[in-house]
Amino acid sequence: MKYYDKLIFELSRPGRVGYELPKNEFGTDGEKQIPSDLLRSQPLDLPEVSELDVVRHYTNLSNKNFGVDTGFYPLGSCTMKYNPKINEEVAAMPQFADIHPLQDPDTVQGALELYWNLQNALAKLAGFAEFTLNPYAGAHGELTGLMVMRSYHMSRGDHKRKKVIVPDSAHGTNPASAMVAGLEVVEVKSRPNGSIDIEDLKPLLNDEVAGIMMTNPNTLGMFETEIMEIAKLVHDAGGLLYYDGANFNPLLGKVRPGDMGFDIMHINLHKTFSTPHGGGGPGSGPVGVAEHLVKFLPNPHVKKDAEGRFYVENGDEALGSVSTFFGNFGVMMKAYAYILSLGKEGIRKVGPMATLNANYIKESLKDDYLLPIDGVCKHEFVFDGLKDKSTGVTTLNVAKRLLDYGFHAPTIYFPLLFHESMMIEPTETESLETLDEFIDVMHKVAKEARETPDEVKNAPLTTIVRKLDETTAAKNPVLNYKALKESNN
Ligand SMILES: *Cc1c(COP(=O)(O)O)cnc(C)c1O
Repeated sequence: MKYYDKLIFELSRPGRVGYELPKNEFGTDGEKQIPSDLLRSQPLDLPEVSELDVVRHYTNLSNKNFGVDTGFYPLGSCTMKYNPKINEEVAAMPQFADIHPLQDPDTVQGALELYWNLQNALAKLAGFAEFTLNPYAGAHGELTGLMVMRSYHMSRGDHKRKKVIVPDSAHGTNPASAMVAGLEVVEVKSRPNGSIDIEDLKPLLNDEVAGIMMTNPNTLGMFETEIMEIAKLVHDAGGLLYYDGANFNPLLGKVRPGDMGFDIMHINLHKTFSTPHGGGGPGSGPVGVAEHLVKFLPNPHVKKDAEGRFYVENGDEALGSVSTFFGNFGVMMKAYAYILSLGKEGIRKVGPMATLNANYIKESLKDDYLLPIDGVCKHEFVFDGLKDKSTGVTTLNVAKRLLDYGFHAPTIYFPLLFHESMMIEPTETESLETLDEFIDVMHKVAKEARETPDEVKNAPLTTIVRKLDETTAAKNPVLNYKALKESNN
């Protein structure tokens, strides 16, 4: 282990200083203003390190991390594409970054205009009447959208409608959001190709159904060709259709969920619209609705008057706030800059390029990996592990071995439809050279699995930490230095 790989507490030497807080200019008067029970009686146990120690420690640490900026990251259902740095610069512009949500709307017309323009752009791209940009994440958007669904039925006195139909292939957040929204989850089966089994759906539709949650292309990356029929069946039964648009990437500028008959959807700006993610935020999960549901969208709303001035409105029938003020404004700025920089023509290339890249990998690897559903996929697809499983090498082993070759693993063991799922989404931002290198490495790992399986089973061999005990990590988390010291004693 290199010296600077040590924990920052282990680098600590008494008296070493990297930064001094500015002098307390209020003197003891300032201290007096803090209630005495909140004043610290003992100095905080912090590491004492020089500025150079800190810089080297964290720079080394950051180099051990894996990100889109360090290598190919084909994590299915996550759209880990490159996020242009210019959008970060735009989001950091002090004219926007330094304003406050409680400012008089007259002083922040530009920010309100950006919110207005972005919600309109999303509405156009997705085929809905209006979007709220307030929710913080995909799951938060789902919850908001389902609360809109509930409000709609309640406003009509249709109190019986409490059931939400969710396909067995759905993202885990779908049933979770339905539960949090106070609705009941009913599962509908998928056919072997991941599409909804209409014959299984029909008997589930009755006057207790609030709606159905779907995504199209579905979790297996296949387009649901019978979507218009499904929409008719659900609407005829009095239900609404919710579109999980976390992975809106393949449809951008080509196909609109609103035109497929959906009533509500959310979009993850932190997947499709240029906000890096994976570290836990900040994100944004705008929710779009058809005309008849606009009045239920959460407060506050940005509106435009006849003179072109923007103002903030709270509607009577609307849901209350789902976030502080308007949500994560910086993420909206990145999305807006991204949409404008791509333009109408650029945006139309995103989905086809993502689709082409996914199909290129799929076709190039299906001799070594088991492809349960053949045919043209959209932006992603799923292998069911290695084709030759005789040496006992699993999807987990392959995923870990990829780290040794400098690639992030695909999404593994999701969807649950197959035992050895390996979900690959290359996105549109990768070059042919990167795709070819990944394909080569995947072939190499398949060969290793046949010839030297133990090497693959013991992977990763080159990373700073090897195979982690994920169960103990989750059940017995050691999250700070004090706990680590105690656990070592
Ligand atoms: C990522 C994702 C979500 C959840 O989004 P978060 O922002 O992580 O809450 C929901 N559905 C699908 C299909 C997703 O890929």
